[in-house]
Amino acid sequence: MSETYDAIVLGAGAAGLFCAATAGQRGKRVLLLDHADQVGKKILISGGGRCNFTNIHTAPDRYLSGNAHFAKSALSRYTPADFLDMVEAYGIAWHEKTLGQLFCDGSAKQIVAMLLEECAKGGVTVHCGDTLGEIDHADGHYRVAFGARAATAPALVIATGGPSIPKMGATGLAYDLARKFGLKVVQPRPALVPLTLPGAEALFRDLSGVSTEVVARCGKASFREAALFTHRGLSGPAILQISSYWQRGQTVTTQFLPDRAEGWLKDAKRERPRASLRKVLGEGLPERLVDVLCERLGLSGELGAMSDKALAAAEAKLARWPFVPDGSEGYAKAEVTAGGIDTGALSSKTMEARKVPGLFVVGEAADVTGWLGGYNFQWAWASARAAGLAI
Ligand SMILES: Cc1cc2nc3c(=O)[nH]c(=O)nc-3n(C[C@H](O)[C@H](O)[C@H](O)COP(=O)(O)OP(=O)(O)OC[C@H]3O[C@@H](n4cnc5c(N)ncnc54)[C@H](O)[C@@H]3O)c2cc1C
Repeated sequence: MSETYDAIVLGAGAAGLFCAATAGQRGKRVLLLDHADQVGKKILISGGGRCNFTNIHTAPDRYLSGNAHFAKSALSRYTPADFLDMVEAYGIAWHEKTLGQLFCDGSAKQIVAMLLEECAKGGVTVHCGDTLGEIDHADGHYRVAFGARAATAPALVIATGGPSIPKMGATGLAYDLARKFGLKVVQPRPALVPLTLPGAEALFRDLSGVSTEVVARCGKASFREAALFTHRGLSGPAILQISSYWQRGQTVTTQFLPDRAEGWLKDAKRERPRASLRKVLGEGLPERLVDVLCERLGLSGELGAMSDKALAAAEAKLARWPFVPDGSEGYAKAEVTAGGIDTGALSSKTMEARKVPGLFVVGEAADVTGWLGGYNFQWAWASARAAGLAI
């Protein structure tokens, strides 16, 4: 015998919890299933344990997707201010850290507790810790087996996220289900992920732990934030951001000393001909990085002894220092997965598959990927809300 519900939500992460709560509070009978032993595991580790739960600068152009317009509808109908209202109603203290990123003052546990409370208010049945079995669709009903039990409902919500960080319980189930139900999947790839550098860049890999502000660029994308050298390559917010736009074989450039005006090295030569290149670079960059940059530039000694041409060439290189990563640290370290279930098959208003009535896709499972800084959770809330109101 199957238990019957109005909707079964697969995945009790950010999107699944909020979708189940929204539908439940509209009087729908909702079953929320997760194979992990607890709900919201990624929320708990997010933002260094303080959960960067939204970003006040949320806008559709801060998301990557095969369809740049897809996220507009859901994002405009459930905004950062809407989520913040709920956070405040629960008395959760928060602060803006930087660049519009809102974090809990206390702990990400407060966000999970809030979402569970919202589910409880909607009478949602939450079931964790059992592997999902067969998932079928017949006679307008979805049937999901879990553990020794089974449930049926006319609506099924795929909220199982992407495969980033498998050790947190992430899987590619969303894509398997999409294919099963005839939906296309845009090639998934690790995003917001550290990039690795080849052996030829060993000098930079030796800088592990050194960080500096840069403008990182790849194609048309650019981000001004910190870059961090690691023993495998490049990380830090600027690099994580640019990694989402990077494709194998492409060059990532970093602009060191981004505030220096054009011609600054020649000006420095005129003003301080006895100063060394090492000294003037060291006024804005960490010493160990300066050593590597000078070695790579092949320049040493006093500025006065260097030709204007050599200084202009050095300045140009510092403004677009090229790195050709040989890969990324992969799903094990990727904060999100880019790509996913093709939005072309989904209604942007309801997140329902146009050709598969009752099948909804929310959160990271869909081909919508936000920038670093609270944008991914905002997409999870907004898409979950859209589906939760439509079920
Ligand atoms: C370390 C880290 C830090 C992050 N920090 C932030 C941040 O501060 N701000 C931000 O906006 N974003 C952050 N993110 C990204 C954010 O966590 C995700 O974009 C967001 O959680 C996606 O929500 P979701 O509900 O779609 O998927 P998830 O939250 O990943 O939830 C998916 C759920 O489905 C379950 N599941 C998966 N496969 C199966 C299966 N086969 N059977 C049953 N259940 C399954 C999982 O156990 C999980 O509970 C971070 C990610 C990581 C990894």
